[in-house]
Amino acid sequence: MATAAAAGRDVLARFEPVIGLEVHCQLLTRTKLFCSCRNRFGDAPNTNVCPVCLGLPGALPVLSREAVTLALRAALATGCTVHETSVFARKNYFYPDLPKGYQISQYERPLATGGHVEIPAGDGSLRRVRLHRIHMEEDAGKLLHEGFAWSGEKSGVDFNRSGVPLIEIVSHPDLRTPEEAHDYLAALRAVLLYAGVSDGNMEEGSLRCDANVSVRPRGTEALGTRAEIKNLNSFRHVARAIEHEAARQAAVIEAGGTVVQETRLWNADRGETASMRSKEEAHDYRYFPEPDLPPLVVSLEWIEEVRGSLPELPAARRRRFVADYGLPGYDAAVLTVSREVADYYEAAARESGNPKAASNWVMSEVLRKLKEDERPLAGCPVAPERLAELLKLVDRGTISGKIAKDVFERMWASGEGAPAIVEREGLTQVSDEGALRAAIAEVVAASPEQAATYRGGRTATLGWFVGQVMKKTGGRANPQVVNALLREALDGPS
Ligand SMILES: [Zn+2]
Repeated sequence: MATAAAAGRDVLARFEPVIGLEVHCQLLTRTKLFCSCRNRFGDAPNTNVCPVCLGLPGALPVLSREAVTLALRAALATGCTVHETSVFARKNYFYPDLPKGYQISQYERPLATGGHVEIPAGDGSLRRVRLHRIHMEEDAGKLLHEGFAWSGEKSGVDFNRSGVPLIEIVSHPDLRTPEEAHDYLAALRAVLLYAGVSDGNMEEGSLRCDANVSVRPRGTEALGTRAEIKNLNSFRHVARAIEHEAARQAAVIEAGGTVVQETRLWNADRGETASMRSKEEAHDYRYFPEPDLPPLVVSLEWIEEVRGSLPELPAARRRRFVADYGLPGYDAAVLTVSREVADYYEAAARESGNPKAASNWVMSEVLRKLKEDERPLAGCPVAPERLAELLKLVDRGTISGKIAKDVFERMWASGEGAPAIVEREGLTQVSDEGALRAAIAEVVAASPEQAATYRGGRTATLGWFVGQVMKKTGGRANPQVVNALLREALDGPS
């Protein structure tokens, strides 16, 4: 297997992958798309169901305004053109999790078209990946093959998910590497989270991704035959599956074969894709306009109201962080990964008056501790205002940067403020020259060998002396003052 994978990477030196993603995103509505059943993950099977979402004869769908509003948020946040009139259509197919025998989707006239998502380009700038369309549709139920006493003989079906509102976001085939596909998905997820459209939880299926992959000889333009890979339920799987599939196709072509248009399933355990069925054509679904729903008409006022309620989006915020706070692009990208992190950072930057220090502390300490504790930012024991107090103590020279790290750990554990901890523990930085001179004199007197080395021209020994003085003062000495006084003591007449 390992050899096959290596050979695959080798042929990719000669073939270029062309990748487009179709992302299904569950909308954060209270109810389902066409009925008032609750839209909630994790409830006992078949507890959130009614005649509409069970597809019982005579039941009629009623479109949720909340779902349309969220779909509009997604469309406007990605710069799509929203169409005043869109049309729901029946997509007919037979599957046990689809009680009506059709899914209500949008086909010829989707809610929105165009738009783009920005991903990082190699040089630190951003590159646009174009969107083809965003349309609304309902989810199907879920088959349960495992976890029951009878699972050996039969499968169950849970209709809680039947009728849950989705949007499908279809990109152009603008992606060229598995990493770009990963970055696109991350950027799209961030936009959807900022806009409050989805919780972005891939484990719970709130975001699901299919990838259209083809390859072509490098340097050529014509598109190859593509395969659609389904079942990509994590960021890691998306990148791995695409890499594997592109290499597979390239190997087929190099061996003189032909790539077949088909749907393939990613098997994460085996690390490979396998043919699932030949790719359906649109006519297989016998689409026709949904007779039980009128066309969806969204007024200009509605669109403008939604547009006006959108927050600043990740790409704009990232640019502003670079411009206003002088942050490097990398820092800005890390700090805008979610709205909560960006809000936290901005509050700390403003309150402390030191945006660069705030950026370093949020990235290296706050995010690290949250990861260690597996806590969300909402559960962070150190509020941004409290972090700002700590940074101000460092900036004023009240405590050293080294002590600040210890104080931060105590703040994290106790929720106490920095000034109280510093006061109680007597951690104030010692800048008083008299006190420091005394400590330095002791250290120098106790280390004649090192003093001789220093005076012999090995001035790097100074660092060792600084360390000794810091130790003696419990890390509280002001390093700049210590440096200056040490030089004086060592360079001066002895
Ligand atoms: Zn229902």
